[in-house]
Amino acid sequence: MKVAKTIDEIRRLVADARVGGARLVGLVPTMGALHEGHYSLIDVARGECDFVVVSIFVNPTQFAPNEDYRNYPRPVENDLAGCESHGVDAVFAPSADEMYQAGFAATVKVAGLTESMEGRCRPGHFDGVCTVVAKLFNIVGPNVAYFGAKDYQQSAVIRKMVADLDMPLRIAVCPIVREADGLAMSSRNANLDDAERIQAPVLHESLRLAERLIREGERNAANVIESVQSLLGENAPLGEADYVAIVDPDSLAAVEEIESDVVVALAVKFPSARLIDNMRVDVPKTSR
Ligand code: AMP
Repeated sequence: MKVAKTIDEIRRLVADARVGGARLVGLVPTMGALHEGHYSLIDVARGECDFVVVSIFVNPTQFAPNEDYRNYPRPVENDLAGCESHGVDAVFAPSADEMYQAGFAATVKVAGLTESMEGRCRPGHFDGVCTVVAKLFNIVGPNVAYFGAKDYQQSAVIRKMVADLDMPLRIAVCPIVREADGLAMSSRNANLDDAERIQAPVLHESLRLAERLIREGERNAANVIESVQSLLGENAPLGEADYVAIVDPDSLAAVEEIESDVVVALAVKFPSARLIDNMRVDVPKTSR
């Protein structure tokens, strides 16, 4: 496994791989502190591609000034060992200065899909995400890039960016990987203290409650949201819900009457970490 710290180096590694016969290059963009969620993406990429690149870059432009950019975990040696053991061909781990040269002035912005949920709570977040992901695509030139459904809105925004800007690659979205108690794996889980960690699985429990209510026939989204909020309030008093939303899986528009498949998404701010989770609920045709 090669580790590239500069844009020139990773470009050379990918170009050499292509000359050597690699037809499909896969990219797994991450911010490091890798866990089984990331490794699930890497394993899918390894199964599908001839040359697998993992980028590890804590992107400063997607964090607001009051957010956890500085505290974000950076266990570099562990991450490299994990990538090696999952058969990664090359890791791209640039510095912030390498990615953002002095005078950097470009922004990639996707309107619409970015304006609710995470975009509303974290102004500018998706501009930072789209800009860095567009740069990574231009730098690595992958045929396929792998994202997790854990960040559902992000995957929808990236798909839209790729479609609208005619970027020549496929976006693969892989399922959420969870701990045994249901908590979605996240690099930020490491920052939770013991009491917060005990309460954190309620994010998933409340998504399951929403799923059950919808499956049982509740069609009013506001009623489902209210039930979810009260479960969160009772079982995760250390957390504060940023939002609970029920949206169309494609447009991400808020749904009032649930008549077809929806995504239930939420964000809960604990004192030590802000957590997000979501679940797609398929609405059976017979009950529509
Ligand atoms: P991050 O390092 O948090 O930016 O995540 C990098 C990629 O891994 C994103 O596409 C995430 O959606 C994905 N990811 C993070 N956590 C999980 C998880 N628990 N299951 C599946 N994918 C995940």
